[in-house]
Amino acid sequence: MGARQDIVARIEAAAKAAGRAAESVSLVAVSKLQPDARVEAVLGAGQRLFGENRVQEAEARWRERRGQYADLRLRLIGPLQSNKAEAAVRLFDAIDVLDRPKLAAALADAAQKIGKSPDILVQVNTGEEPQKAGIAPGEADSFIRAARQTFGLPVVGLMCIPPADEEPAMHFALLAKIAARNGLSELSMGMSGDFESAIRFGATMVRVGSALFGAREN
Ligand SMILES: *Cc1c(COP(=O)(O)O)cnc(C)c1O
Repeated sequence: MGARQDIVARIEAAAKAAGRAAESVSLVAVSKLQPDARVEAVLGAGQRLFGENRVQEAEARWRERRGQYADLRLRLIGPLQSNKAEAAVRLFDAIDVLDRPKLAAALADAAQKIGKSPDILVQVNTGEEPQKAGIAPGEADSFIRAARQTFGLPVVGLMCIPPADEEPAMHFALLAKIAARNGLSELSMGMSGDFESAIRFGATMVRVGSALFGAREN
């Protein structure tokens, strides 16, 4: 069984165990820092939804391939500088890392200029780690409201990366709670080591890199 089939089967089993429909969880293949041959193999296995961490790396990898796969969808899951907002809005179908007003303003300007906006997820720093991106949980409600109302962005969900050294379940539960009270339906949470737990807590997208492609080249 191929690695993708294996991950898809695990997602389906986790969804079923949680009493959820298998189709309610999407696999985001995190292709950052992976060799092209592995990405080609996963495309060949039918995967069409990919996550990238950096705008420039994603442009280099996907600019030409985009034309070959009409149903390809790209999500930005790594930190975004405001001065790259326009390039990101052009390339990505979704930007999952909105976490500050300055970036909201830059994305809104870019969307207006280009005439379309990617779907937007707000990243929440559920562990309140100083070195990590994301809005603090206590500021999430007001920031989500501002992103929608002041900046007019199509915010559809939330994303988090729990602290590496903590049980992720409480972070997944917190993210789900913030999403529910803000009427947001998409939850991007869970990676190679914990995506089954994330599905139990309501993940609608899991971001899987190394378990799907193999260890990254650093
Ligand atoms: C790299 C990365 C992933 C994938 O991590 P794996 O543990 O390799 O599955 C998921 N989400 C984000 C934000 C990442 O940067």
